[in-house]
Amino acid sequence: SLSDRLAGSLKDLRGKGRLSGADIDAVCREIRLALLEADVALPVVRSFITRIKERAKGAEVSAALNPAQQVVKIVNEELVGILGGETRRIEFAKNPPTVIMLAGLQGSGKTTLAGKLAKWLKDQNHTPLLVACDLQRPGAVSQLQIVGERAGATVYAPHPGTSIGGGDNALGITAADPVEVARAGIAEAKNKHFDVVIVDTAGRLGIDEELMAQAAGIRDATQPDETLFVLDAMIGQDAVSTAQAFQDGVGFTGVVLTKLDGDARGGAALSVREVTGRPIMFASTGEKLEDFDVFHPDRMASRILGMGDLLSLIEQAENVFDAQQAEDAAAKIGSGQLTLEDFLEQMMAIRKMGPIGNLLGMLPGAAGMKDALAAVDDKQLDRVQAIIRGMTPAERADPKMINASRRLRIANGSGVKVSDVNQLVDRFFEARKMMASMAGRMGMPGARKANQ
Ligand code: GDP
Ligand code: MG
Repeated sequence: SLSDRLAGSLKDLRGKGRLSGADIDAVCREIRLALLEADVALPVVRSFITRIKERAKGAEVSAALNPAQQVVKIVNEELVGILGGETRRIEFAKNPPTVIMLAGLQGSGKTTLAGKLAKWLKDQNHTPLLVACDLQRPGAVSQLQIVGERAGATVYAPHPGTSIGGGDNALGITAADPVEVARAGIAEAKNKHFDVVIVDTAGRLGIDEELMAQAAGIRDATQPDETLFVLDAMIGQDAVSTAQAFQDGVGFTGVVLTKLDGDARGGAALSVREVTGRPIMFASTGEKLEDFDVFHPDRMASRILGMGDLLSLIEQAENVFDAQQAEDAAAKIGSGQLTLEDFLEQMMAIRKMGPIGNLLGMLPGAAGMKDALAAVDDKQLDRVQAIIRGMTPAERADPKMINASRRLRIANGSGVKVSDVNQLVDRFFEARKMMASMAGRMGMPGARKANQ
């Protein structure tokens, strides 16, 4: 992942407290690889990195963050800005019905999305009508009917109520004209006062002129308020050419990214946003109706970067610690000199940021520590605090001196069992070791000092 690779390049960075050209280049090289790994298109990566370098050069020096962290922060801000710069919600027509047309390749998730959108709209007290204009594939109409039923939404199909079996003879459905069905669907919505019409269309496996012509025909007949281009995030580098073909052939007002539950890093989001200029409006994360949400640029940015929510952690840390405190603490952590007194102070500072589990969960790589984290709760921390308060300043400064008789005294003084004190002291030594090595990996200022 990027954080692992950054850790490698961080070892070479020396804490100058400001961003040098070499620092910026080193980090940008890693960011570039991370973007390519996330399937961002090469030209998009190039122009993006150029902008980052410009911004980084003019960046103010941060006392709390090292140069690499500063560049990463800029990259993240820039990514979020691009992905969400013009984030907008569906614009509803002044005169209902609002028409939403779905376009995209076969299998991209249009029909599934139709159901998700219908449910989402119903939850907001809209009355959506689903219109089945995919007459290409046997079974497409009944798929929409099933999806519509699950969403509790009405479906308008060429032969309402008819179950359309697969096979060669699809009950004359293939003879119907999708453009006519679309037109009739809009009329139905007006007659029966549905306030939104969702038009499901046919897709092909690849770009196809006939398909584009049909989609354009449906567009002209329905005059959609929104045309959503549905894009499978797993499609990778093909995202750009596919999006361009649909932009030229049909045109669209927004993008829906699907199959984000897969392992795609989602670089398609950045590519499509950059190349078409159209906002990503929704994200689909599974086959069920509920696996759907409005698009969150910040989540997508950290997914593309592969850094967990490291940045929000940095931001929170910046808010809570003053810079000098952070430097001091980091130096002690990095060099393994942390005392129980520091530990207590840090713990109090960290607790100001919210429940400890949430916080630790934001660290990249923390997934592997999940079980350990699950065991940490705030009550336990209260006890830890009580135990440390029961120690003398000398004991806090040099925990190695805490022998058996001292442990007994501390336990009695703080109202816990000796085994609790033992556990705390043991864990402290473990944590000190782990934090020192983690600080080294993440390039905290203290770790650099310790290495020098
Ligand atoms: P269409 O051809 O564009 O209408 O695509 P469909 O809606 O029929 O979806 C194709 C397949 O992808 C179906 O098996 C869906 O269940 C599945 N699918 C759609 N969206 C998602 C998603 O977000 N995640 C996952 N895992 N599967 C999805
Ligand atoms: Mg479909």
